[in-house]
Amino acid sequence: MRNEDVRPNEYVLATTLKACSLSLDVELGRQVHAEAVKAGLLTDLFVASGLVDLYAKCKEIELADGQVHVFVSQDGSHPKTEQIYAKLQDLKQRLSFSGYIPKTENVLHNISSREKIEHLWHHSERLALGLALISASPGMPIRIFKNLRICEDCHEVMKVISYVTSREIVIRDFKRFHHFKLGSCSCQDSW
Ligand SMILES: [Zn+2]
Ligand SMILES: [Zn+2]
Repeated sequence: MRNEDVRPNEYVLATTLKACSLSLDVELGRQVHAEAVKAGLLTDLFVASGLVDLYAKCKEIELADGQVHVFVSQDGSHPKTEQIYAKLQDLKQRLSFSGYIPKTENVLHNISSREKIEHLWHHSERLALGLALISASPGMPIRIFKNLRICEDCHEVMKVISYVTSREIVIRDFKRFHHFKLGSCSCQDSW
């Protein structure tokens, strides 16, 4: 493409980035990313050595061991779904002793408050977090990318989880980075 001076479109760039991330070809990924930025198609896609596939719109992406995992809310398609849900169940129990109260007002469904809480626990950023916690090496910060804004309840939960698990969690949502550490966030709740 480069040799023939053809400008790749967003789809081609995103697909190539995804392929680079799966094959762990960081160098090629870097070049593709530079092309994307130059073309004004993608910005701020690159964090550390991780490659992010922003083509996956409306989904959250979690990077673990160089691999890209994509989740949607209430997702049950990941091969480790059972372990992820078990991990979240465990966190939910730990958080119930922390004073955290789920904010269910923003859950639109006409369902019981217990079901609303379940629904919140299966938001995609929490599924991504669950996978990260069962797969990442101890002490490693967790990085999650979200193309929408993180919801208020997930923001609160991430703060508490960063405290109870002593893990740093970095979530890039469509507006900014949220760096959760020891129970607070770098945005100081003014996001
Ligand atoms: Zn949420
Ligand atoms: Zn924040």
